[in-house]
Amino acid sequence: MMRSIEIVEVGPRDGLQSEPGVMPTAAKIEFIERLIAAGSRRIEVTSFVNPKRVPQMADAEQVLAGLTKRPDVHYVGLVLNRKGFDRAVAAGCNEIGMAVVASDTFNRRNQGVGTDESIAAWLDIAQAARAAGVRAQVTVSAAFGCPFEGEMPIARVVDVARRCAEAGPFEIAIADTIGVGVPTQVTELVAAVRAAVPASVRLRAHFHNTRNTGLANAWAAVQAGVATLDASAGGIGGCPFAPAATGNIPTEDLVYMLTRGGYATGIDLDALIETGKWLQQTLGRPVPGMLVKAGNFPRIVAERAA
Ligand code: ZN
Repeated sequence: MMRSIEIVEVGPRDGLQSEPGVMPTAAKIEFIERLIAAGSRRIEVTSFVNPKRVPQMADAEQVLAGLTKRPDVHYVGLVLNRKGFDRAVAAGCNEIGMAVVASDTFNRRNQGVGTDESIAAWLDIAQAARAAGVRAQVTVSAAFGCPFEGEMPIARVVDVARRCAEAGPFEIAIADTIGVGVPTQVTELVAAVRAAVPASVRLRAHFHNTRNTGLANAWAAVQAGVATLDASAGGIGGCPFAPAATGNIPTEDLVYMLTRGGYATGIDLDALIETGKWLQQTLGRPVPGMLVKAGNFPRIVAERAA
């Protein structure tokens, strides 16, 4: 029997977040609807953060309000504190993702408080989510390395994951936020976190392709037993004007690798490639993903002839 891998589409949030231009709300809604039409059932649609710090996400409430909600889709809102959580629930998100950075320095830069404070906020959010009937998960960010502290000790990541697991989330993710990880590290870290948190907690992995190891890392995670991966359509997520583009792993490329590797994803790859092309037009520049350029294989001959 084919094993299923669930893909969480993060293009509308992690992907767009560092785009230099703000995508109009209507285009964001079209992006999300296209992803759903291609088979995505779990999408990080926006984040509820300070609009002064992340102007791209200032229309979080309007995006949620503009979507035709389907009961079979999880509309995930990323939050960094209780205030963001309250906004996300009010806006109609049926899943909340919280991020806690393994590196204290990075957490302070990103969220204005230390890792311990963010873990405390997560424990409060998880409880509030349960009361509100909204499912909640948490991501341990910079788990493979930090731009300020350098190498991230496995013991530190495991400790943060274990403390986050005390809230009883359905899932914990480990994220290579800056794209420095390699497959051997993935194998090691997944095993360590798996051993440290209860078996009832599912594991998810989040990779960036900054150093071109993203897909190899995704494959290593799957082999290590991870059944859910984050990816962004077209591999967007890096600012084209920044010296170090930091795009997420491209969803099309991931679906191609997994499908031909014998895994079911539920995603219509051709429809997703079309979405990648639409994204290129909408952003006005090429996207990093390779399948958008190279196309699916095998191709349908009749389609090419026509
Ligand atoms: Zn990310």
